[in-house]
Amino acid sequence: MSHRWACLLGEPVAHSLSPALHNAAFAALGIDAHYDARLVSYEELPAVVAELRAADCMGANVTAPHKQAVIPLVDEVGDEVRALGALNTIVNVDGRLVAGNTDAAGLARWMRLSHIDPAGRPAVVLGAGGAARSSVWALADLGATAVVVLNRTVERAQALVTSLEPHLKSVDLMWGSLAEAAEPAARPWRVVINATSLGHHGAAPDVHPSWYSRDSVAIELAYNPPVTGFMVAAREAGARAENGLGMLLHQAALAFERWTGQAPPMDVYEAVVRERIAA
Ligand code: NAP
Repeated sequence: MSHRWACLLGEPVAHSLSPALHNAAFAALGIDAHYDARLVSYEELPAVVAELRAADCMGANVTAPHKQAVIPLVDEVGDEVRALGALNTIVNVDGRLVAGNTDAAGLARWMRLSHIDPAGRPAVVLGAGGAARSSVWALADLGATAVVVLNRTVERAQALVTSLEPHLKSVDLMWGSLAEAAEPAARPWRVVINATSLGHHGAAPDVHPSWYSRDSVAIELAYNPPVTGFMVAAREAGARAENGLGMLLHQAALAFERWTGQAPPMDVYEAVVRERIAA
């Protein structure tokens, strides 16, 4: 097989870790391929997506702001793309573009591997953006009985629940205000996911200590900084706390697997991320 390629489509893309992750994995596995980040405007998107049908192209990742706009440009989408209304991975299958969303599946796989088990219990998601949607999908996939979505803008939490409900029949979805997290809880939650962007900006949502017990896991979806105020507060209240590195690496790994049929070496991925965060 001759040289192959994959790429990231977005605007901006300069901050992305994906080229470093995938190129390191290609090198480690001896795969003759490269991955680059392409700055693509909305107007350029159709032509750039058409190029992905080339025989030497494995596929692409898609990031903001194109995760929704690209959907009509591909040939086939997975059920999770229909549910989430966004895709992040395209695979070129003999010229047909098949798309999936590995954010949600990556979070679910990392939680499973990390023994974070929401099955048979209700869970909470803070936030109502794209990462919150993926979190609700992952919690439903792992068997949570109910998910409460709390957001600063309550209407967005309601809209998230209304759009996901038809796709996630096995789970009760509820919405409310982020301010409710500051109030005492009737009982501790097994899993609380912070999918607001506060952690990314050195801030944290106010979560009452009674929301946690020693059986609780607090998941911060931001990964830089690696420890956030949300995680510190959860640990002080007795919970286990994790950041979003696992989700990041597993969404990338699932895309890599779909393009190459091989699993990337996770230790290589981890080394790339640690180097970048330290820098
Ligand atoms: P987004 O669509 O922009 O959503 C941002 C969310 O944060 C909204 O719910 C927003 O509430 C809330 N928010 C923003 N500022 C706030 C404030 N001052 N007070 C309270 N709530 C506030 O972002 P996203 O793409 O979902 O990303 C959310 C987080 O997940 C980010 O930290 C991102 O880095 C992380 N993430 C991680 C991964 C990973 O692989 N680990 C993947 C994707 C995202 P409103 O609706 O009220 O504005």
